Amino acid sequence: MKKKITLIELGKEYLYMKPHIDHALGSCLEAQNWILGPEVKELENKIAEYIGIKHAVGVASGTDALVLSLRALAIKLKGQEYFSRTDKIITTPFTFTATGDAILRAGATPLFVDIDPKTYNIDCVKLDEYLNSHGPSEIAGIIPVHLYGQACNMDKIMECARKYNLFVIEDTAQAFGGMWKGKKLGSFGMAGAFSFFPSKNLGGFGDGGMVVTNDPETAELVRMLLKHGGKDKYNVDHLGYNSRLDTIQAAVLLVKLKYLDEFNQLRRKSAGIYQKSLDGINAISLPKSLPEAHHVYHQYTIRISGDKRTVVQRKLEENSIASAVYYPVPLHRMKVFQNQSEVSGTLREAENSATQVLSLPIGPLLKEEEISFICACIKGVVV
Ligand SMILES: *Cc1c(COP(=O)(O)O)cnc(C)c1O
Repeated sequence: MKKKITLIELGKEYLYMKPHIDHALGSCLEAQNWILGPEVKELENKIAEYIGIKHAVGVASGTDALVLSLRALAIKLKGQEYFSRTDKIITTPFTFTATGDAILRAGATPLFVDIDPKTYNIDCVKLDEYLNSHGPSEIAGIIPVHLYGQACNMDKIMECARKYNLFVIEDTAQAFGGMWKGKKLGSFGMAGAFSFFPSKNLGGFGDGGMVVTNDPETAELVRMLLKHGGKDKYNVDHLGYNSRLDTIQAAVLLVKLKYLDEFNQLRRKSAGIYQKSLDGINAISLPKSLPEAHHVYHQYTIRISGDKRTVVQRKLEENSIASAVYYPVPLHRMKVFQNQSEVSGTLREAENSATQVLSLPIGPLLKEEEISFICACIKGVVV
């Protein structure tokens, strides 16, 4: 019987680190410091150091990292608890729902700008064109998403932000350890939002997230918002949340952070093997890693032209190989964003990508012969 090849192998990763993880969990059980225990602070310090930034604040999820950063900026920049509906925040339609709904939750309106079909990230030319032709008056900020672990062009995005006086919050949920010109993603904008959802490059044993920033006021506001909105729990200033990062997650993440660079390097190596093996197939476009970007391959996503995607998916399924479409529906097509968002132009590239992309298994412990087998299956049905 053939062994199943899954998209990620969290069980295998756990076994690889087992003694260290078990030890960390055991210490938590003995200490019983479940809420904001010392591991949370330690993780915040380690991550701030790793990203090269002054402040890191643990929160309950990547979604909350986005929402709380946005709420902090509404308070800091506008003196309001929430943004107004007339405040527009630009982002990509080709991302996980959370990027867009965080904007809605913070009271603002998402404005979707199309993607570059080669990187799947927001198209910086279209971004600049939009800002240039509309004027910045109602645009508050930009949330670039480093999709699949590939950096956005942060030179261009920061240039636009400066030119039109916009804030930038990086959605770094898929790109922990990724870089642009040697600088860690998440450290470019006003804030960076990370997710520790188990499948992310740095994933916990449940939900978790982190906000990173160089701005002390933003860090302080996020710290207040995550604990009901006050410095004093029993006398609060803002409409906050219960959004703490669990001690036990922080303990697990402290162990996993030590393996992160090694694991990202292994992902890059697997991507290289795919690249060699799938190169030259007409119907398939391979992920393009920009020379300035250090791609950490949260996903290895290929594009299959024509109507061949279902054929490939079926072939992989027959051979017990998992694959997935991230994302089948661009945000502007979802019900939740109807009448609640704006679009710049047709968003054709995002729509095309949604019908053509396919993510293949990629994980630090995937074997070379498994990749060869996956590629052989694909080559059996497309030329
Ligand atoms: C996973 C993800 C999020 C949300 O993170 P959660 O921890 O699941 O809340 C946000 N944006 C992107 C791009 C993601 O991939």
